[in-house]
This record gives sequence, C-alpha cells and structure tokens, in this order.
Amino acid sequence: MSEANVDDVAKNKYEMMVQDGKNRTKIYCQRCPSIILLPQKAIMKEKELFLPHMKKKPNAAPEDGETLKEFWLVEDMFTFENLGFTNTVDNIKYLICADCEVGPIGVHDTRQNKHFYIALDRVKHAD
Ligand SMILES: [Zn+2]
Repeated sequence: MSEANVDDVAKNKYEMMVQDGKNRTKIYCQRCPSIILLPQKAIMKEKELFLPHMKKKPNAAPEDGETLKEFWLVEDMFTFENLGFTNTVDNIKYLICADCEVGPIGVHDTRQNKHFYIALDRVKHAD
C-alpha cells in the first residue's frame, strides 16, 4: 500500500461529503435524528483543533481528547438548524447536539465571533 492509495481513500470520502468546498449533504447528529446543518451551509476547512473525546453531556473542563484536522466552518450561529453549547471556559464553548447533548461535535472560540467549527468525523453526512 502506498501513500497515494491512502490519499485516494480520503479523497473519495470527501467527495461524498464536499461539493464546491461546501457540505454536499445534510449534517446530522451521529446518535439521534437531529439535523445540525442543511446542505451548502458550511465551508470545509483543514485546521488542527483539539476536542475532548465524545460523550453524553460533556463538560468543558480540560480532559483527554484528540486533535482533529477536518472541520466545517460556519460563520453565523443562526445558520445551524439545531445546536447546543457547553458553558464557556477560557473563551471556549464546545458545540453539542441540541437534542441528545452528545458531544463535543465542534468548538467555538468566543473571541472569534464568526468561527464555529464542526468536526467532520463527529457528525453524520446523509441526504
Ligand atoms: Zn443528538
């Protein structure tokens, strides 16, 4: 297996999700039927951001997690169909499902008012 093959797999994965740099499909919670975003509402960004591991009803205290590299950028919180937030700690709010509160599915830095990041790996992409 060469690196090219790995890249092809990643590319195919994104082709299913991305169209013209935006989300091709609806974006759902992974655990419940809640719709987070409608198609073409978010911009694909490659960026390294740390997120705590997923769990139900997360708190925003420092804890174990992982650095993720692919995010949907949304610039206006009213673009979201449904979205919940954790309390702000050190200017960071984590984004969670508004219905089942699973998360964090993304992150918002309150010093950057127009940057809401949703991790591609933590949401479901489907028509
Ligand atoms: Zn949910």
